[in-house]
Amino acid sequence: MTSSTPTGSTSALVDQLIKQIGQHGAISVTAYMDAVAEAYYARGRVFGRDGDFITSPEISQVFGELVGLWCVTAWQALGQPRNFHLVECGPGRGTLMADALRTVWDVAPVFARSASLHLVERSQALREEQRQNLAAYDIEWHDGLSTLPDGPVIIVANEFLDALPISQFVKTTSGWCERMVTHDGSKFEFTVNSLPSATIDETFYDAPNGSILENSEAVEQVTAEIALLCAERPGIALVIDYGHTVTDVGDTLQAVKNHTFHPALDTPGDADLTAHVDFAAVAQAARSRSASIHGPVEQGVWLKRLGAGVRETQLSEGKSDSETAVIRSSIHRLIDPEGMGSLFKVIAFGPAGCKPLSGFSTGADL
Ligand code: SAH
Repeated sequence: MTSSTPTGSTSALVDQLIKQIGQHGAISVTAYMDAVAEAYYARGRVFGRDGDFITSPEISQVFGELVGLWCVTAWQALGQPRNFHLVECGPGRGTLMADALRTVWDVAPVFARSASLHLVERSQALREEQRQNLAAYDIEWHDGLSTLPDGPVIIVANEFLDALPISQFVKTTSGWCERMVTHDGSKFEFTVNSLPSATIDETFYDAPNGSILENSEAVEQVTAEIALLCAERPGIALVIDYGHTVTDVGDTLQAVKNHTFHPALDTPGDADLTAHVDFAAVAQAARSRSASIHGPVEQGVWLKRLGAGVRETQLSEGKSDSETAVIRSSIHRLIDPEGMGSLFKVIAFGPAGCKPLSGFSTGADL
């Protein structure tokens, strides 16, 4: 059993979690993460220098611009439908979409005129930020993908899957048992379910005691939903997140507050709680819905293939040395392997038989 530091917090979320644990016993990591994510994002103001963490579109406008141009190429691959839904899952402040739409209105007005904009967002506070940052556009908000109207779709999701709840399992002498969260009267702490779980892949039966294995029903379910839309509407989806391409043991649950790591069970709802995305599981979930799979490829490689270097040169023209240095360092943070270039991966789905998509090679990238 591992413990964390005392919470000291009396927020409604803490009270609710303590009450739930008191009445029904320890809760799963999944239930804990889900409750924390809902409360955390409901606050809004979580991104950027004054928030807890920063995402690619908030680092450089080039990210949203290139995603926007990529969407135009995806639309071309779908045969340029005159009416389609441009969908973003978990749009945060709406920055990616604002940069994407500004760019495509300039270079591909027919694409822009053919699109209706849909945002999947469950935080009312972030919906309000999105409304302000995308004030020039008509927006339809959704709680999930099931309410999207009929018609072809292009879907974008950046750092959405990492926010969805995961399950964790701990290898014990009696087998793989689900990791749970309890409260000892003064602080939240991890514990382990006494009954082994029957659902662990036998590849990991020999892992040493104490090993942690993760999976995410929520990630698999939403990926399968996205892939089904791609296969049937038809549609093309772009999913970007941090994570790994081979399923393996390891504890990736992490909390970030004020841009620094924070104990995962400390002050729930005050820090962003996420987990690495298992791209092998994501690809498998998409494959199960007969979508074509493109990638995964490292974010740095993908952005360079889409012309991040050319855009850097364009943006730097006529700028002062200090402005050029800022443009350069922000784009490089997205691309460099020591920054976000390697840990972050990009994967796309399309209908079966979809032609190769921009930024992805026809063979295996990773
Ligand atoms: N894509 C944005 C924000 C990433 S943060 C960016 O790159 O800056 C995660 C986003 O997903 C937030 O907008 C959060 O409110 C949203 N989100 C998290 N869980 C969700 C869920 N279950 N349903 C809908 N939106 C969710």
